[in-house]
Amino acid sequence: HAKELGKNNFQFYSEALNTNSLERLSLESSLRSALEHNEFRLYYQPKRRMSNGEVTGMEALLRWEHPELGLVLPMQFIPLAEENGLIIPLGRWVFKTACQQNVTWQQQGYPPLTIAINLSARQFIDEHLLDDIKLALKETGMDPRLLEVEITESMVMRDLQQTIQILQSLKQMGVRVAIDDFGTGYSSLSNLKQFSVDTIKIDGSFIQDIVRSQEDQGLTEAIIAVGRSLGLTVVAEGVENSDQFEFLRRHFCDEFQGFYGNEPLTAEDFAQVVWKQANQPVPD
Ligand code: C2E
Ligand code: MG
Ligand code: MG
Ligand code: MG
Repeated sequence: HAKELGKNNFQFYSEALNTNSLERLSLESSLRSALEHNEFRLYYQPKRRMSNGEVTGMEALLRWEHPELGLVLPMQFIPLAEENGLIIPLGRWVFKTACQQNVTWQQQGYPPLTIAINLSARQFIDEHLLDDIKLALKETGMDPRLLEVEITESMVMRDLQQTIQILQSLKQMGVRVAIDDFGTGYSSLSNLKQFSVDTIKIDGSFIQDIVRSQEDQGLTEAIIAVGRSLGLTVVAEGVENSDQFEFLRRHFCDEFQGFYGNEPLTAEDFAQVVWKQANQPVPD
């Protein structure tokens, strides 16, 4: 069942089966050189408040601008980068680039929006994670309170003591934490309370059929109730149309992300959108 596996895993396995070892080898070597050749890009997808549409922050989403293939999505290379360890230097590039972009926008006078960065399993348990994040914040001068990291339920359940330690350290640094793809994993409510996270993001697979599926409606309402009772911000992912939006708004979901609001945008396009909304001229 794709929903239980999580959409990313599901697609990864089906793709991996279709990929022969030669293709895999060449993907692996071009992935390595991509970092040196500066072929990675970050796109930024706005998060908006349901009640008034205001942009509250953004999620940084990684893309590989392959010289021949064009824009390659993360599910085609993150699993491999996880496997071969390249995710660690690549992740460092992501922290650094996102923090730098945030500082640049602050310097240009844009509103102080949070920027969320995705962590994968190997990054989360890497012993240098906290140092890498600290270094990115220090080198760029970014306000840690504007940084949020997104982790999944399966990542936090692996080693509870270690998770609690990492999340506490992030909290001490002032960095916010979101549980991504919420509802697809197996974290218990008591864990959620213990972790003292700031945000839960309802997985897009629950939103997709929400207008027709009573099951998905019930699950989504339950997640919103859990979030509210723990005082967390609840964000719905993958909101694509007004019916989905209206359902979520009626059930007091706090924020949403998805094509109904905006697609992931280049830094330039993001600035235009946010600035336009604030009804201010675009700075040069
Ligand atoms: P995610 O963190 O759950 O990100 C949400 C995904 O939903 C993104 O896919 C986004 O482009 C897509 N999306 C946004 N709005 C809609 C919508 O309305 N409908 C639909 N169907 N999809 C929508 P993307 O960018 O392909 O990223 C896939 C996954 O790759 C992310 O899932 C995240 O787990 C991972 N990822 C992305 N960037 C990074 C990164 O910098 N580092 C790591 N470690 N993982 C990343
Ligand atoms: Mg995410
Ligand atoms: Mg997600
Ligand atoms: Mg995901």
